[in-house]
Amino acid sequence: MSAKNWETNAEIQYFREYLRIPSVHPEPDYKPCIEFLKRQAEGLNLPIKVFYPLNEQNPVVVLTWEGLEPELPSILLNSHMDVVPVFPENWTHPPFGADIDEEGRIFARGAQDMKCVGMQYLAAIRALKKSGLRLKRTIHISFVPDEEVGGRNGMQPFVKSEEFRSLNIGFSLDEGIASPTAEFPVFYAERTVKRLFFKISGSAGHGLLLMPNTAGEKLSYIISKMMELRAVQVQRLKDNPKLQIGDVTTINLTTVNGGVQSNVVPPYMTATFDCRLSLDTDIVEFEANLHKWCAEAGGDIEFEFGSQWHKGHIPPTATDASNPFWLAFKSATDELGLSINLQVFPGGTDSRYIRHAGIPALGFSPMNHTPVLLHDHDEFLLAETYLKGVQIYQKIIFSVANA
Ligand SMILES: [Zn+2]
Repeated sequence: MSAKNWETNAEIQYFREYLRIPSVHPEPDYKPCIEFLKRQAEGLNLPIKVFYPLNEQNPVVVLTWEGLEPELPSILLNSHMDVVPVFPENWTHPPFGADIDEEGRIFARGAQDMKCVGMQYLAAIRALKKSGLRLKRTIHISFVPDEEVGGRNGMQPFVKSEEFRSLNIGFSLDEGIASPTAEFPVFYAERTVKRLFFKISGSAGHGLLLMPNTAGEKLSYIISKMMELRAVQVQRLKDNPKLQIGDVTTINLTTVNGGVQSNVVPPYMTATFDCRLSLDTDIVEFEANLHKWCAEAGGDIEFEFGSQWHKGHIPPTATDASNPFWLAFKSATDELGLSINLQVFPGGTDSRYIRHAGIPALGFSPMNHTPVLLHDHDEFLLAETYLKGVQIYQKIIFSVANA
């Protein structure tokens, strides 16, 4: 199909209009998103509310389609409005132009992550409403800010708010990622992120001596222990082709600092590791090992975890008969003949705040046969894939809202 034909497709035009709003970090302005979503709500004849769980700069927009039994726990369809920065010189199309090429590829930042999903929810609801259907449960479609920088100004305070509690949410859908194969990944959990800072003190002095207990020796010991742990995980992945990156612990040395002059042994050095602990990691044991290694290295080492808003693992969303929403989701995807692949999300999404609040959440972006281009230049989504996703959501929304 040529580019011309898409110009007459209303859903594709709404999607492109949303993509053209540059709600981009580091200082996204969400006002044009709110205005756009108000027009969408008007067209859909749905009530819309704007909440400010933290401040004026970070609105949470919620459209609501009331169900036939509104007292039942509701369904949340979440997406984030913000997108990551662009380097236009690396793009072959303007990153906020939403150009469509001859193949039907729509180019824009947010085409995959995740303005597509937000608009697909609305498109699916438009189709369901048009067919005259009413669903049992109430649906809330939320558009949140700040996800791309951690959600501390968006979903994190929102889930703690009275407004959120009043939505009475029983199940949530949020983003997944594209898949280059026929399979659709579905995410039911995330690993536990620990930013680990070591502050290492040692004997200082002239570089011509062989002093004991220098910060450099201690740092070397700590790094070797952390790298041993890393090597075990590398081997686990190698030995078991069924394991994916979200199933193992990842450990990476990210910063090393210290020293003032090349012939002076410094009294202090620091090192940071990005650690993402797999769900089968015993966190208490992990911390106990860190204490042990600090002592073995010679002592005078402190470590701390950066911005820890939860300590233990956040329980994964159940993907068995104990979770009726999972059964409803699965039966919809089975009926559509989709091949789904349950996974632990390797990075962080807003679903972790939802799960932490005790609400089951799945991450799912219906984009198969699509290269993963999130945060990359020339991010695109095929118009056909977008519209197929709308059909998939119709089925899923119908199924989970009647569960
Ligand atoms: Zn995203």
